[in-house]
Amino acid sequence: ALHLRPLETTATSFPTNHNKIESVQDTPYFVDNQFVASNTSEFIDLHDPATNNLVTRVPQNTDEELKAAVASAERAFVKWKSTSVLYRQGVMFKFVALIRENWDRLAASITLEQGKTFADARGDVLRGLQVAEAACSAPELLKGEVLEVAKDMETRTYREPLGVVAAICPFNFPAMIPLWCIPIATVTGNTLILKPSERDPGAAMILAELVQKAGFPEGVVNVVHGAHRAVNFILDEPAIKAVSFVGGNKAGEYIFTRGSANGKRVQANLGAKNHAAVLPDCNKNQFLNAVTGAAFGAAGQRCMALSTVVLVGETKEWLPELAERAKALQVNAGFEAGADLGPVISPQSKARIEGLIASAEAEGATILLDGRGFKPAKYPNGNWIAPTIITNVTPQMQCYKEEIFGPVLVCLNVDSLDEAIDLINDNEYGNGVAIFTRSGPTAEEFRRRIQAGQVGINVPIPVPLPMFSFTGNKKSVAGGGASTFYGKPGVNFYTQTKTVTSLWAGTDAISKKADVAMPTQS
Ligand code: NAD
Repeated sequence: ALHLRPLETTATSFPTNHNKIESVQDTPYFVDNQFVASNTSEFIDLHDPATNNLVTRVPQNTDEELKAAVASAERAFVKWKSTSVLYRQGVMFKFVALIRENWDRLAASITLEQGKTFADARGDVLRGLQVAEAACSAPELLKGEVLEVAKDMETRTYREPLGVVAAICPFNFPAMIPLWCIPIATVTGNTLILKPSERDPGAAMILAELVQKAGFPEGVVNVVHGAHRAVNFILDEPAIKAVSFVGGNKAGEYIFTRGSANGKRVQANLGAKNHAAVLPDCNKNQFLNAVTGAAFGAAGQRCMALSTVVLVGETKEWLPELAERAKALQVNAGFEAGADLGPVISPQSKARIEGLIASAEAEGATILLDGRGFKPAKYPNGNWIAPTIITNVTPQMQCYKEEIFGPVLVCLNVDSLDEAIDLINDNEYGNGVAIFTRSGPTAEEFRRRIQAGQVGINVPIPVPLPMFSFTGNKKSVAGGGASTFYGKPGVNFYTQTKTVTSLWAGTDAISKKADVAMPTQS
């Protein structure tokens, strides 16, 4: 018998501080619209990054539980694929309204488990909510095409769901990334196995509750937990037809290769090293604020964090002012009023980031602003690193080559726009890039020549809204980025096109002799 376990929070009661939790509850998994306690003996401890207090234990679902989740999704698919698109749109409208109602509760879960500030966590929810809102236009998005291709003959296309699909999510956007997948996968008629990050599944569990309340039939969305073993299960399970992955390169390249080898569709968004080219003619104040926010917001743990600045010509003289603005940011626990950035996700992550700062020092760079060793008085046990700026960096240094994923900005100097473009294009990653300039022709030249998927012109984090798609490039996507998340390409990913050619009129007038040549146009 399944051991049912309700969620502990509600839309009106949720954590608003970092106090130690007296009776820690294990995170349930979600199958057939029910929260269930896992029978596993393997758990992953989840700590509040601001205090390292235990928040919950996340189960590693057993193979039996993983199989049961897939079986549930397979059963659900039989009926769900036959519902009308207007029915699914109606469910999505309710889901959207519920996310809005539970916005603060979702954000609080993110602040507690992931560490980002409450205001930033609300943005994490909003960016996902917008995808759910866009998914409400499914009747438009799912329309096929029709053309009279010859006399009495027409060709029509239909978009059909794939079946059971899966999503494997990273820790840094606990609401947004699950919401890149849940709305589009389900509104197109698929059923979904979601595996949130084992480091912060709380927001995904609240979304599961909202799935149930919105009226999704049981099994349309199931949520399972675990790490490598659960991922391998998903990659090898024949019933799962497509896998969406967002996370780092090591896991993502492996997942793309193994999933593709098993005949699945795989879309995989990976790591990044996003550059800003700064031209002397830009609005200096706007650049200073934009880069400070985009480099250090969310403690630099965004795939679109602006982590690398390429200073053209005399703009390198603005570095002391940049350091002043970075220094003015308040590093504190996410529920504290006025906090600009919180801790990084784990003590291991903190040690890794500090190691990269030390490597820069050893390789001859300058640590203009050193955030190592900082601790807010009230939270001495958190994973703290204050904003750090490394200057005089060269492309050979480790701090330039690796994604740091922390509140660390690396700065390189060049003499011209051409040099800036060459340097950025030589980098292996190609997620986002920005240019700061007041010149239209300069921006246009940059836009044409730059090799990156998402370009900001005086915009530091140019993440496209959901009527467009998230279009990373180079090593920031697996498989050349053929399948991108949300927008029309997201609908393509989750649907199979069926193309039907019909001959309706004049069939009795057809010659008695079979025609064996390929038809030609006439
Ligand atoms: P991660 O790769 O460590 O984990 C992502 C998921 O993969 C998790 O669910 C985890 O359980 C699983 N996983 C991890 N290692 C695995 C392995 N060896 N085998 C199988 N499964 C494994 O990523 P993360 O640290 O959670 O997230 C941060 C990374 O995600 C950064 O590199 C960031 O740039 C990237 N990211 C990219 C985008 C994008 O759209 N390009 C968006 C958000 C985050």
